[in-house]
Parts: sequence; structure tokens; C-alpha cells
Amino acid sequence: MESLLVGNGWFEDTVPVRTLYLDLNSYFASCEQQDRPELRGRPVAVVPVEAETTFVIAASVEAKRFGIKTGTRVSDARRMCPPSCDAPKGLITVHARPERYVELHHAIFTAVETVLPIERVWSIDEFECKLLGSQQEPDEATRLALACKRAIRTCVGERLTCSIGLAPNRVLGKLASDMQKPDGLVLLRPEDLPGAIERLGVRELAGIGPNMEARLHKFGVRTIGDLLARSERDLRSAWGSVIGAEWYHWLRGRVVSEHAVVTRSIGHEHVLAPDLRTSERARGVLIRLLHKAATRARQKGFVAGEISVAVRGFAPGETTGGWGLSARREAPKAMARALLSVPTADTLQLVRIVSGLFDDAIAGLEGIPPIKVAVTLGALEPIYSASGSLFDQRPIDSPLGKAMDRINGKFGRHTVYPASMHAAKSSAPMRIAFGSIPDPELPA
Ligand SMILES: [Mg+2]
Repeated sequence: MESLLVGNGWFEDTVPVRTLYLDLNSYFASCEQQDRPELRGRPVAVVPVEAETTFVIAASVEAKRFGIKTGTRVSDARRMCPPSCDAPKGLITVHARPERYVELHHAIFTAVETVLPIERVWSIDEFECKLLGSQQEPDEATRLALACKRAIRTCVGERLTCSIGLAPNRVLGKLASDMQKPDGLVLLRPEDLPGAIERLGVRELAGIGPNMEARLHKFGVRTIGDLLARSERDLRSAWGSVIGAEWYHWLRGRVVSEHAVVTRSIGHEHVLAPDLRTSERARGVLIRLLHKAATRARQKGFVAGEISVAVRGFAPGETTGGWGLSARREAPKAMARALLSVPTADTLQLVRIVSGLFDDAIAGLEGIPPIKVAVTLGALEPIYSASGSLFDQRPIDSPLGKAMDRINGKFGRHTVYPASMHAAKSSAPMRIAFGSIPDPELPA
């Protein structure tokens, strides 16, 4: 087998169907329909709180037929789905129960593993299995896919349907799983490529969001076929990184090593206005900086393996806005750092960690009021190369964070934000372009 080095990763020549990619259909809504038979066959929207001004987190298959999807405002969703013969009560809104969805995630994990070992959990409702040896034969791969569907139905619940993509690699497997919903099964053999995918728009590819789509349009690329017509060098310059070269090979069914670690960091700091120089207000500003950094990390497709917090105290004799050298030299500083067992870009998970680090840093200042706070997300790596922990099966993906990004991208940057930054909402102005909505890939 021939191998070539591309940037930091290896790829090898095409071999048959190596990946089974499983994506649950309308996951959160299906969990509710599974647990509550009265919701079955009904247009259901899962919502974070019972309020008309809030946004839909997940829509059932029936609600999607009315055009309702993640990010639709509840009042709009009700207008889109009024009481009718099909839906006598109109749209039914259901309060989200995240713990239950995680519980069912583990049950689904166990059910799938009765058929095939799971190679990687990509999100709360997406799993990747590797096919080996004779499992790569199309007939056998199809049999295994049907067995996975059956295992979920019988071990977890008949309402939990999934779409499965069988393809030469993970990227094409994910694409295939999106091609038929609900309860789909799509097989992409090497000989089906590129015919089966070339007419699809580039946004059908998970990982190509509106920003990248706009960028590709400038290069005259609208469909997957257009991407396939370009050289590896073209794609590299369209992406501005080695990731373009990876797409070149992924689309050709090759396997590119996904273990290249990108060492990068994203950090923000802020000098506190006089009225914010208390530890509780400084905490609010810090959480806000974290929210910004985590949003940027998600936009870039990164998860952080390390997080650090720095707090500078008000130097003795320092006046407001006093940045004289002598004052700075004496300024007390405190830092705290944590390594994450499971890399993440999930704002709420990071808020908990940062809050603890801030307590440590503030304790280090021994009562001196804070004047500057900073947070850095480090050991960043692309989400596709990050591996989870055996002992902590929280998904490394951040469906909630992405939902927040989408809602903020659509309705303004402070539509939803962590409660802990409420007091500091207007300080530390958001400098990143929120017009750029990140990849809206969500459990659907
Ligand atoms: Mg899904």
C-alpha cells in the first residue's frame, strides 16, 4: 500500500468501505417521543425554557416537515405549525432534559457495541465504527448497519431511529448518513464516487460552514464536484492551511491521519474599569472573555486541552489608568492552570473550570483588588483529532455551545450567554465577527 506524507498527516490509497457512521435522527425530540408515547407522531419542539421568546433546540421529524429546526424562535415555530388536521394541538413544546439524553446516549453506545466496537464518539448522537477485513464487503457492511439499527431499536427504544452512512472514510460516511433521513442507510462504494456526491452543495459537508462556503464561492466552488475538480494546491490555498489538502484526499475516499496536533492558543484579556474591580465582577468579565474564546475555538473547529487564568492585582500607589513602569513592576499577579482530561470547547464545561481557577488566582492575590483578568485556551487541536477519555464519555463536541453560536449569530450576540457573565455583559466588547455563524452542525 502506497503512503504519502501530507503536511502533518499520512494518507493511503483508497480501499473499500472502511467506515460506518451512525447519526441518530432528531435525537433530543426522538428521546422525548420514546419516553412519552403521547408525543409520538406529533410535531414536537424541545426548548430550553417555556417561553415564546426562546429558541428551539431540536425539532421532531414531524415538526421539521413544517420547516421548524434548531434555532427557530418558538413564537415563529407556533405560527409555522398551527393546529390542523395533521396536528390538532399545533406544535407541542417540551422542556429539554439533558441528563436523560446523555443517559440514552450511553444506552445507544452499549447497544451499538453489541454489533461493532465504536471507534469514536463525535457528538451526543453521532458515532463512528471502523470496518475491518470482510466487514468492508458491501453486503457485510450493510448487514452490520441493519444490525446496529436493530440493536438500538430493541435495546434502547423503537423511536430512536438513525441514519447510517457506509463509506471509505469518516468524512464521506458522515456525508452518506446525511443523504437519507430519517432511518436512512446509504452506501458509498469507491465505484459510486464521485457520481453520487458531485452535485451536492459544499455545505452538505460537515465542517464547511457559511464562512467557508462564502470563501469557496469566491474561488468559483459551489458543489462537491467543483471541489473535486480543483488541485490539492488550490484547496490548500482556499482553506489557507493543510486542512484544504486533507479535504482533497477525504473527498477521494482516502484516509488521512487525524492525529496531527495543532499547537495553538486563543486568549483574551481585559483591564477592569474601576467599578469592576471586585472579585465577583472580575469573575463576570473573565467568564465573558472565556465565552468569546470558546466561541472562537468552536468557529475554528478546535477543542482545548488546557486552560489558564491570570489575574493582576492593583499595584500599591497605582492610580486609575496608571500604567507607569514602576507601578507595573510591583503589580501582584496570580495564575492558575488546568489540563483537561477531555478536550472541549463547550462554554458551560469551561465556565465551571475557569471559575475554580479564578478562585485560586484571587486567593493568590491575598485581598488585593483585581485590575486585569485574562483567560487562555491552550493545547488546541482540531475537533476531529481530539480523543475522548475512556473514563469520561462526555462528548467532546459542544452541541449546546454550537446552538448558542447559531442563535447569537442569527439574533445578535447576546441573545443567549452563560448566566454567570450576566453582570459583565456589556464590558469587554465582543471583537470577533459574529456575522460569521459557525458550522451549524447539531444533533438533528
Ligand atoms: Mg442527528
